[in-house]
Amino acid sequence: MEPSLHSHGSEGARWQRWGLALVICLALAYAHLVSAAALSVGEKSLLFIRLDFEDIPGDPVPQPKAAEVMKTVGDYYRAVSDGKLRIETAFTPTLRMPRRAAWYATHHPERDQDAHAAAKAAGFNPAGFDLEIMVFNVAVHGDGVGIQGGKGVWLAPPIGFYGVVHELGHNFGLPHNAVWKTWDGSVSGAGTAATYGDPYDPMGCGGDDPRNHFSVRSKRLLGWWGPGDIVNVKQSGTYQLYAQDLPGAPGPRGLRIQSNATNVYWVEFRQLISENPYLRNGVLIYKCYADESGRVDMTLNLLDMTPGSPLGCTDAPLLLGRTFADDAAGIYITPVAKRGTAPESLDVVVNLGHYTSNHPPLLRLTASTRSPGVGQPVVLRAMTNDPGEDSLEYSWDFGDGSFEWGKPVVTHTWKADRDFAVRCSVTDMKGGSASKLLLATVGHPTLHRLVGALTSNGKPLANVLVAADTTHSVFTDSDGLFALTDLASGRHRIAAPHTWGWWVPPVSVDCPGTESIRLAAVPLKPDAIWSDRGIELEGDDVLSTPAHFRPPVEITIVAKTSATNLRIGYAADQVIFNWEGDGNQLRVDGGPASGQHRPGRGAVPPNRYVTIRWVVTPKSQAIFVDGDPRFRHNGDYSGIDRPVSVFTYESTVTVKSVGVKQLPPGTQ
Ligand SMILES: [Zn+2]
Repeated sequence: MEPSLHSHGSEGARWQRWGLALVICLALAYAHLVSAAALSVGEKSLLFIRLDFEDIPGDPVPQPKAAEVMKTVGDYYRAVSDGKLRIETAFTPTLRMPRRAAWYATHHPERDQDAHAAAKAAGFNPAGFDLEIMVFNVAVHGDGVGIQGGKGVWLAPPIGFYGVVHELGHNFGLPHNAVWKTWDGSVSGAGTAATYGDPYDPMGCGGDDPRNHFSVRSKRLLGWWGPGDIVNVKQSGTYQLYAQDLPGAPGPRGLRIQSNATNVYWVEFRQLISENPYLRNGVLIYKCYADESGRVDMTLNLLDMTPGSPLGCTDAPLLLGRTFADDAAGIYITPVAKRGTAPESLDVVVNLGHYTSNHPPLLRLTASTRSPGVGQPVVLRAMTNDPGEDSLEYSWDFGDGSFEWGKPVVTHTWKADRDFAVRCSVTDMKGGSASKLLLATVGHPTLHRLVGALTSNGKPLANVLVAADTTHSVFTDSDGLFALTDLASGRHRIAAPHTWGWWVPPVSVDCPGTESIRLAAVPLKPDAIWSDRGIELEGDDVLSTPAHFRPPVEITIVAKTSATNLRIGYAADQVIFNWEGDGNQLRVDGGPASGQHRPGRGAVPPNRYVTIRWVVTPKSQAIFVDGDPRFRHNGDYSGIDRPVSVFTYESTVTVKSVGVKQLPPGTQ
């Protein structure tokens, strides 16, 4: 295997739209991940080489600090590997490099040779160690670099637990973990990997919290787990799954479900992050290419069951009593009950097949009272009728961070004077489901509530995220109804910012004063959006074409911004005009031209419509503003297949039109 480098630099603005990590790893290349566990199993020796320079003298990290970090790293790897990996670290004193620091910034092989020579002269034999970390007191290559699938980590101070665990993870062969972001607001449909976004894994943005274990697929690949730890699900059934982050499981800790020739789902259960009720009462589902598929990209993608919610990945888990459905592949996954074992385990029902004649269940919800006092028990009852007489599973979300599952009748008490939106959902575990919201007004709330309906041509739109500002949100129920609670006094902007295939004009309401509203969704044409008055985008609003396109295409956008951040997406995750950091610079993030920002080419006049023409062929992209060429880049654009989007950040962007014209095949 060819090792490749992963370097970490700071590029904070890149994913701010998705609220992801501040530190971004730049993946220079992916090596195919092999299961050779040579480096990740057994007693491994690590040489920690500290280096300084004549022009920047001094300890890059004091010996006690280095020892403390490596102790926590060693303890962590021992725990997450079930004792299979033990790392013994030797530390050099701080060694003087023969040349000045700046020279090494562009001479990496010489840097390594000189560092090894210095270690040798100090009585260490670098070749005799399995692993190696070099620490320099300057940022020699971003914040950190780890060779993927080989020996060697370079780090710049400050040295911390997370940076070391992460870079060693690259040494062991792991790529980054991502969060899957779909174009259409679904959980697992067509979309893109937001690399580095998984907050539960050290190969994502797991940070310094040692309770973030490696995902089950990684534990298997690294040789820490045997075949008995993973169930390869090939038929429908109920599978018991033990918490993967606690020791002593007597049974399987991961499910692997192949969805087609190249794709796999991984299912796992965690208990260690005890303050997260979603993790404690649900499963994480990842998707990736099958390890034997020969695909080069081995990214593991966390699926977020509540895409777009303000909680980010906190509520990514699939809660007990709810179903994740991949209708195309015929895969239905439902965690149904905790077992109360030690360590904790739960049962997961997996149904494999195409249930084409299945009908969704009907659901009605009642409460013994809708305005209980604080601490007063309320009986909630779900009345269901399944046309196919399938067995049903129930999921209750009481709106206060507590959940219940498996029962049609539950009793709950709330502990605060507040409005709570209760959600009950019912699933037949074969793709049919229904959900209902019920508003409980507990005691005497001091804040405000708002109920409403989201419809299109009179028909309810279900499972759409409705948000008050960017802080409060709720998914509509099967009747298109929503209830927003805990709203402060004042004006609120109620929007459905990610509605796919529709545009929902936001409504501004004053609290107190408004109790209920209606949101009316306007259907969008697949390739042409047009509005006389202009569609106003604020906050998290994204205006997307319902269709996705392959080059060659010509995109024409007529839009204006009130101040900063007119942003467009297609051949890049975002092209930013009037970037808030430097309005003159044209920023290009993501895609084949990622990072190729253009000084002096990014400004557009505020409050005036401009016509942006974006021509993308399989070999190039070019951007014009009112006919003025702003950006051109040659590269491989043949793999682009996504919708066109317009959005903003901290400004109001108004869109008059978006049009996409497919150019004749062969257009270069
Ligand atoms: Zn990395």
